[in-house]
Amino acid sequence: MGILTTENMLTESGNFLGFNELKQKETTLTMANYFLWLGIDHSLPCEWQRMIKAGNIGSFSQPTPRHFHSDQIHVKLDKNNVVKIQALTSKQIHKKLVTKRTLEPTSKAKFKAISSENNLDWANIYKIPFNSTLATRTRAFQLKILHRILFTNSALFKMKISVTPLCTLCGLENETLEHLFVDCRICEIILGSFYRLG
Ligand SMILES: [Zn+2]
Repeated sequence: MGILTTENMLTESGNFLGFNELKQKETTLTMANYFLWLGIDHSLPCEWQRMIKAGNIGSFSQPTPRHFHSDQIHVKLDKNNVVKIQALTSKQIHKKLVTKRTLEPTSKAKFKAISSENNLDWANIYKIPFNSTLATRTRAFQLKILHRILFTNSALFKMKISVTPLCTLCGLENETLEHLFVDCRICEIILGSFYRLG
């Protein structure tokens, strides 16, 4: 015999047995079993424990089973794409689960705030480091720009690491990411010479 399922811990009418009552049923129970029983008892929600102690176990209503045919279950992938659950690929399931947990990079909000362009293609922008080069260092450099963690003089000056916030190349304006790669005349000349070489 022994206690194999929760059912063994209940009376025939479905009430929870106290440890002494259980011991009368199963005489081999030891103190170690008592602590195990106590653990099970305490793991139940308070409301359930109250109902059990009041002998009110009948009020645990059985949920009505709902039977679905898999044909009836649809999953919404995005606004215009609803598919039957059998048609889902593991890639789509993974994407659906991951999307719930992903957070938008803070750098994206900053780029949106300073950009006049509203319809930036972010999916493609984030692919640039991987599509444009195989070189690990260049990819890391581009990722740093994308996530705004490429430290320019402007940021280093705020951290009291650089003595000046001004651009290393032209020395005329604060060296922000936007100045360095968009507005700086010297940088434009340097990049232009690369394009000519290419
Ligand atoms: Zn400059």
